[in-house]
Amino acid sequence: MAIAFRDIRKVFPDGTVALDTFDLSFDAGEFIVLLGPSGSGKSTACRILAGLEKPSSGAVVIDGRDITALAPRERNASMVFQNYALYPHKTVYENIAYPLRVRKRARRDIDRAVRDMAGLLQIGELLRRRPRELSGGEAQRVAVARALVWQPEICLMDEPLSNLDALLRLKTRAELKRIHRELQKTFVFV
Ligand code: ADP
Ligand code: MG
Repeated sequence: MAIAFRDIRKVFPDGTVALDTFDLSFDAGEFIVLLGPSGSGKSTACRILAGLEKPSSGAVVIDGRDITALAPRERNASMVFQNYALYPHKTVYENIAYPLRVRKRARRDIDRAVRDMAGLLQIGELLRRRPRELSGGEAQRVAVARALVWQPEICLMDEPLSNLDALLRLKTRAELKRIHRELQKTFVFV
């Protein structure tokens, strides 16, 4: 599987040009890093790949198929935002289970998937807590677990670690590489 941005241009209604002649292609399973100054269009590129934003021109192509017109839920992509919002009234377990409940998976499958993903992210002990009872690093792991639990082919992470202190950021970054190796999905990391 190959994923490509082809000659993408994005102009917002106020005239801001966020992306212009943006071309990028990579293979499924890669860990792609987007690096650039603030305002250079990294979030816009992620949102376009996730289907949350339509390009003004150009195309998003997966495996030779133009998916530019597909809605977010028709794409096999999931996104972790910088200001990831966990559902405050749901437990960690229910936060992670949510994408599977929306997809009407069987209860037993949901339970297995939630526990597997919590194990992978080392938050298995936290499943009964609510978000306000978590540290920043723990909440971040829950957000990543929630994004990955339904096994999307593409996981977009838009500065997911920027709320963490420097040491925790380094540690979590190394862990994301381990998780990437285990899941063998495509990671796009801003
Ligand atoms: P980055 O993530 O690299 O910081 P963004 O993709 O968020 O950059 O933004 C790229 C440019 O588009 C910036 O100039 C930003 O101000 C502008 N922009 C982003 N979203 C909107 C919007 N909804 N309306 C107008 N301008 C926007
Ligand atoms: Mg951004």
